[in-house]
Amino acid sequence: MEPKTVTHIAGVAIQVGSQLRQLCAWCGKKIIDVDLSTIMSTDGRPYGAFGDGTLVQVFEGDGFSSHTVVKPEVDAEGALRIPDDCCARPWSKQPAKPGPQLEVVR
Ligand SMILES: [Zn+2]
Repeated sequence: MEPKTVTHIAGVAIQVGSQLRQLCAWCGKKIIDVDLSTIMSTDGRPYGAFGDGTLVQVFEGDGFSSHTVVKPEVDAEGALRIPDDCCARPWSKQPAKPGPQLEVVR
């Protein structure tokens, strides 16, 4: 499997019992799905989720994945732009087209 990245927009994290789950608010991809009872903290901090609306770049390799918080691009007018590899931007292979603005509605 060829490694690739896709940037997702974190939705609200939900914990039921010891299960913590966070999906992409746009496409529904699981960003976090972990049983907290199986996680041991080495620094005493609890396992955290991403803030809702955070851009999370997910790298999926052969049998593993990693997550990186991505800062949104800001254009000359100060508007936030979603990254080219964002799941909410299916036309990302056409970088000449301007993309939509990112707006988190609370
Ligand atoms: Zn997504």
